[in-house]
Order: sequence, then structure tokens, then C-alpha cells
Amino acid sequence: MALHQQQIRPLSATARRRSDDISDIPPTPITHLSETEAAMQEAVAKFAGDVILPRVRDMDEAEQMDPALVTQLFEQGLMGIEIPEEYGGAGMNFTAAIVGIEELARVDPSVSVLVDVHNTLVNTAVLKWGSADLKRRFLPRLATNTVGSFCLSEPGSGSDAFALGTRATELPGGGGYRLTGGKMWITNSVEADFFIVFANVDPSRGHRGITAFVVEKGAQGFSIAKKEKKLGIRASSTCVINLDDVEVPRENLLGEVGQGYKYAIGLLNEGRIGIAAQMTGLALGAWENAARYVWNDRRQFGRLVGEFQGMQHQIAQSYTEIAAARALVYNAARRKEAGEDFVRDAAMAKLFASQVAGRVSGLAIEWMGGMGFVREGLAEKFWRDSKIGAIYEGTSNIQLNTIAKSLQKDYTA
Ligand SMILES: Cc1cc2nc3c(=O)[nH]c(=O)nc-3n(C[C@H](O)[C@H](O)[C@H](O)COP(=O)(O)OP(=O)(O)OC[C@H]3O[C@@H](n4cnc5c(N)ncnc54)[C@H](O)[C@@H]3O)c2cc1C
Repeated sequence: MALHQQQIRPLSATARRRSDDISDIPPTPITHLSETEAAMQEAVAKFAGDVILPRVRDMDEAEQMDPALVTQLFEQGLMGIEIPEEYGGAGMNFTAAIVGIEELARVDPSVSVLVDVHNTLVNTAVLKWGSADLKRRFLPRLATNTVGSFCLSEPGSGSDAFALGTRATELPGGGGYRLTGGKMWITNSVEADFFIVFANVDPSRGHRGITAFVVEKGAQGFSIAKKEKKLGIRASSTCVINLDDVEVPRENLLGEVGQGYKYAIGLLNEGRIGIAAQMTGLALGAWENAARYVWNDRRQFGRLVGEFQGMQHQIAQSYTEIAAARALVYNAARRKEAGEDFVRDAAMAKLFASQVAGRVSGLAIEWMGGMGFVREGLAEKFWRDSKIGAIYEGTSNIQLNTIAKSLQKDYTA
């Protein structure tokens, strides 16, 4: 029954019980973190300030992630946040990953997306659909020393991801598959040794032929064709990948044949919460960078520029928007953890957080005047980095499509 048709029940102290009811859990503020999550937040904030911050500007100029930093991310346990301890991971929950991604983006959104893709897309895929053999072989590596990439997009298929043209042909004898085609826009591809590749085993079945495979960088026929030069998140690698008859053993099939599109949809729904966290952290980082300047350093007309009411209102408005974005992000994460439907929440969080990131980081440059515009500080970088939030893991239009579709379902008789 559609929502508007349901009879409105008078308020009652008698709880309506469902088998998955979580209403007896005492409500807490949505930003309340468990002890483990709070420890994650504190540790990542310290790591980001001490270890990442001194490298941010150089990595952006060089358009390259410092390999030593990647090693340190593994050492910190940030590459296996949800991987169980038995496989060498940190064994934490999804919200801990979200909090970590947010804290990293507060200092460098490029490092944040490396950690985000690796944890929310790659590790999650293996944890959810990997065979016991795949888990045993790869989870310990993904937790300790091997970066992962997620290869769905192609030159001809972006928003329409399932129109992908990469083919997987079964090898004679059934020992595996041959992958032929190419991927585009692949994050982490310079650093990664482990690639989840989506290919179609039977294009006549349309998206129901899409299947996920694990490919290692050393595989014959696998090559990085081109590294993109980008506007923002420049230290994060984004490459074109060629798959020239890459042979993949049957054991490297991820999950079931023909289920790849379902896996990709599920992963991207979760991943969007990660990108929303990245954008929230970015917005806060940009806001703090400018707030410190206008409230401590810069004086005009005999006053700190942050004391002018015209400035204060913008600063207050921006902080309010960041808090709203964060509430959407944490709510989506908690709904996912509670096993509730979170698809619309994830889309709303990503849509709004990327809008806030763009708005706040743009204003922050203006609050800092000329000092916001130069490449000495981080203000201009946060703004450049913010643009990607409206593009990857589903553009803003695609999020709006998802939100509208889900609302229409609820409000259609
Ligand atoms: C830096 C970066 C990193 C990335 N990392 C990865 C990665 O690791 N793995 C991966 O698989 N992909 C990755 N991507 C790809 C990314 O997910 C796609 O760029 C994104 O899905 C959009 O596809 P597109 O670029 O082809 O744009 P298009 O699909 O061509 O869209 C162009 C415009 O048309 C609009 N549009 C398209 N369809 C509709 C519609 N139905 N309704 C309304 N408007 C529509 C879009 O909103 C957009 O404004 C990355 C991209 C970038 C730029």
C-alpha cells in the first residue's frame, strides 16, 4: 500500500513490532560514535595532520601519490578497515570506514578516495561475494600490502554503466575466461595490483551477462594505456586500462556468472556513502582552513575580516550546510548497518554533500581573498577537488534519478 493511502495510526506508546524492529534501541544523536569509531576518528585525524598534510601540496603538483604514504596507510590499518582480524584486517564496521574517509578528506581528498575505493568497493566485493579460496588468497594481501581497483566504466559506458563492451569468453575446457576490451577512469590503477573487472559473458543477455572477475596486474595482456591529467584529486591515479585477451583462471571468478550487475549496483550504493563522506570532510577542511585565516590572521579596516557580519553569516551558513551533509552521511551509514533500505539515503547524502563541498570550498576562496586563489595554500585545491563529487560513483543527475524513482514508488497509488 502506498504511504499516502495508509491509515494514519494515532500516536501510541505501544510500539508496533516488526521482526527487524530496532525501535527499542535508545535513540542517540546521529553523529554519536561508538568507542571504536571515535578512536578511528581521532587516530586518522592525527595521522592526516602529522603524515599527510606535509605532503599534500607536493603530491598535487607532482600528480602522484607518495608510495611511502601508501605503505603507511596499510601500516595504520586503513586499508582493511572492515576486513576481519582473522585475515589481517582491523575488523571494524562500515561507519568506522566512513569516519576514516571523512577525516582523510579533511586534509587530502586524493588520499581519501584511494582509501575509499579500496575499502568500500574492492574489499567489500571480496568479503561479500568472494569464494573461500579468493578470500584466503587475497584478503590478507588487501589488508596489508596490495591496493585494489574497481573497473566498471569504459569509454562508451559511464552513467549507462551496464552497456559495457568488455567481453569474457570461456576458455576451451572451461578452465577460465579470456577478457577482451578496455576500461576507463580507473581510480588507484597506478598503485593497484588487484583489479575487479566487470565483463559480459553473453551480450545477448544484456546486463544479465555481466560478470565480475579478479585480475592481477601482472596478467598477460593487462596494461595501463594512459594516465589522465585532471582538474582535481590529482594525486589520485585515474587511468585507461587495456585488456588484450587477458586469461583469468576460473578460481578468479568473483561470485556467480551473470550476477555482476547486481554486485556493482550494491557496491556503488554503499560506495556513494563513502564519496559523500569524502565530500563532507573536504567541505569541513576547506571551511576550517579559511575560518582560521579570517578569525586569526587577516585584518582590514582595523578588524579581523572574519568579524564583519557579511562574512560571519556566510561562514555560519556554510558550517550549517556541512553539519546537514554529515547528518545525511551518518544516517545513510547507520541505515546500512541496521540492514534497512538505504539506497535513497545514500543518493541524497552524495548529492547534497557534493553540492555543499562545491559551495563551501568556493566561498572559502573568496573569504581568503587573494590568499585563497594562490597555490601556496590549500583553499584552491579543495575547490578543484570538490568537482569530482558530482561526477564519480554516479553523477548528480543519476543520484536525482535514484531519489525521484524511489520517491515515486512510495507516492504512487
Ligand atoms: C576521477 C575519476 C575517477 C573515476 N573512478 C572510477 C573507478 O575507479 N571505476 C570506475 O568504474 N569508474 C570510475 N570513474 C567513472 C565515473 O563513475 C563516470 O565518470 C561517471 O559514472 C559518469 O560517466 P561519464 O563520465 O561517462 O559521463 P556521462 O555518462 O557521459 O554523463 C555526461 C552528462 O550526462 C548526464 N546524464 C547521463 N545520463 C543521464 C540520465 N539518465 N539522466 C540525466 N542526466 C544524465 C550526466 O549526469 C552528466 O552530466 C571515475 C571518473 C573520474 C572522472
